[in-house]
Amino acid sequence: MNHEQSRDLYDRALSVMPGGVNSAVRAAIEPYPFFVERGDGGHVIDADGNRYVDWVMGLGPLLYGHDLPQPVEAAIQSHASEGPMYGTPTEVEVEHAEFVTRHVPSVEMIRFVNSGTEATVSACRLARAATGRDKIVVMQGGYHGAQESTLVEGDGDAVHPSSPGIPQAFAEQTLTLPFNDKEAAQTLFEEHGDDIAAVLTEPILANYGIVHPVEGYHETLRDLCDDYGSLLVFDEVITGFRVGGLQCAQGKFGIEPDLTTFGKLIGGGFPVGAIGGRAELVEQFTPAGDVFQAGTFSGHPVTMAAGLESLRYAAENDVHDHINDLGDRIREGLTDIVADQAPEYTVAGTDGIFKVLFSRTAPETFDGHCEAGCRQRTDCPRFDHCPKNAADVKAGETDRWRRVFWPKMKDQGIFLAQNQFEAQFVTYAHTREDVEETLEAYKEAL
Ligand SMILES: *Cc1c(COP(=O)(O)O)cnc(C)c1O
Repeated sequence: MNHEQSRDLYDRALSVMPGGVNSAVRAAIEPYPFFVERGDGGHVIDADGNRYVDWVMGLGPLLYGHDLPQPVEAAIQSHASEGPMYGTPTEVEVEHAEFVTRHVPSVEMIRFVNSGTEATVSACRLARAATGRDKIVVMQGGYHGAQESTLVEGDGDAVHPSSPGIPQAFAEQTLTLPFNDKEAAQTLFEEHGDDIAAVLTEPILANYGIVHPVEGYHETLRDLCDDYGSLLVFDEVITGFRVGGLQCAQGKFGIEPDLTTFGKLIGGGFPVGAIGGRAELVEQFTPAGDVFQAGTFSGHPVTMAAGLESLRYAAENDVHDHINDLGDRIREGLTDIVADQAPEYTVAGTDGIFKVLFSRTAPETFDGHCEAGCRQRTDCPRFDHCPKNAADVKAGETDRWRRVFWPKMKDQGIFLAQNQFEAQFVTYAHTREDVEETLEAYKEAL
């Protein structure tokens, strides 16, 4: 594969953009990332004309790959040519809000913003205001965007910022838990429960490997929040409208969070975020309430049209069935390959997300093994071996993944997430052939 154009573009980029990119993960590819020229269905074509099966899919916002259904494309074009924005409300915002509140049971009202980061910032502010408390609990290794309250490292109440530029005083208002550890949650609440404004977690960790909850984990968090008067906030920026279809992961798991943050898919490929929940909470945002929240681009008509029409199309067509079937097929195929070639590795994911985690120890048998992605079933022979939290995922083989595995996949024309932690996404544009081609490549590379 020739990458001369990408190398030259990266060279130029390095002079004018820090690290040559506008978001850190894009530069994780060594020695330099390829620059995409255009998308085509389930594929992308780079600046040198190389074609890849694309499982990155913008890191989450694309339900249709690079091939928008006609009504989605038409709605985007018409809104783009009509303005494109006004600083006054528009009908399409109301329609999108009506769509989300109709499909997601815990969401009675919603405020649209411009990124997942903005959504979690505003959700933390709202939770703090609504409870009159300061502390936010997050899962270790969990990602909620580039914001002060959640960019932390450490255990329990011994937490420090994970980036320079964040005051220690900020990190002191954040507590951490290992995902899936019910006792740790119990203990943390016994010590700090009366100061905890909210627990903020993804329903499935999808930014740090993919880690499914163990049975009863979310119920434990729900009960603790109820007992101590704290809010449960689900960050469904990745899982929303992808896992569990239009009811989102909370519907799939049967848990009602107090607040939900959205992003990625609800903007149909354009910058977006949102905070939804019970009316009495969300109405505390200005101007209905006094918790300040605002944004020049919030509820942008083009974004709203793209998001709404994408979700409407999914409601009326077999979009999630197609995606989930292909997801099952790729996870089943990967499970067979792993059993043969790398029995210590874990195949993770559900619905339209998947990942092979480079875990370290193998089960004695694959009999009765989770067939299409780890479900943390206690009777699965891998149960004691599969990652339960971010620290387990981190213990995977970073160097092999990065230096050997990822480049071998790329050389076979398969574009996987740029590091061993980010999820990979199946879309409506992917085909059975894309899946088979990808499985053959895994067979070579694992
Ligand atoms: C991507 C992501 C965010 C941040 O969203 P941005 O739009 O990148 O700011 C927050 N939470 C989760 C779970 C995400 O996956």
